[in-house]
Amino acid sequence: MGFNREHIAPCGINCGVCIAYLRKKNPCCGCNENSLSKPKHCISCRIKNCDHLLKTKSGFCFECSKFPCLRIRQLDARYVKNYQTSLIHNLQEIQKNGVTVFLILENKSWICLFCGQVLSVHSDVCLACNKPRNK
Ligand code: SF4
Ligand code: SF4
Ligand SMILES: [Zn+2]
Repeated sequence: MGFNREHIAPCGINCGVCIAYLRKKNPCCGCNENSLSKPKHCISCRIKNCDHLLKTKSGFCFECSKFPCLRIRQLDARYVKNYQTSLIHNLQEIQKNGVTVFLILENKSWICLFCGQVLSVHSDVCLACNKPRNK
């Protein structure tokens, strides 16, 4: 395992820790893949398909003059409330330190301390061993 640049969506979500990506049956291939296997709401995502995103070099929303726009703020608020993870914070970290450093930290912090498997942002417990999430 190991997250790479392709795992990180324009909005700052690490698709590698998404429950749809980690599930065994019909897993999602992640935001940056152009595949119809993605859930409908991800195919039609208004952030991924945003015209302003096309103007960025990095492919991340932090580079946009409207950042953090209402869409990003709403998604971030949902993730902070439901999953204790800030996508705006993720994007600010990528902007400040670069995606390579961000990936190193993500690779360290989303590993279950009990069984070593990848944790999911969408689950309070490890999907593999059911112990409480340590992130
Ligand atoms: S469902 Fe959406 S957030 Fe999850 S892996 Fe697929 S594209 Fe990424
Ligand atoms: S921050 Fe910019 S690129 Fe990202 S969704 Fe908002 S308007 Fe689009
Ligand atoms: Zn575990």
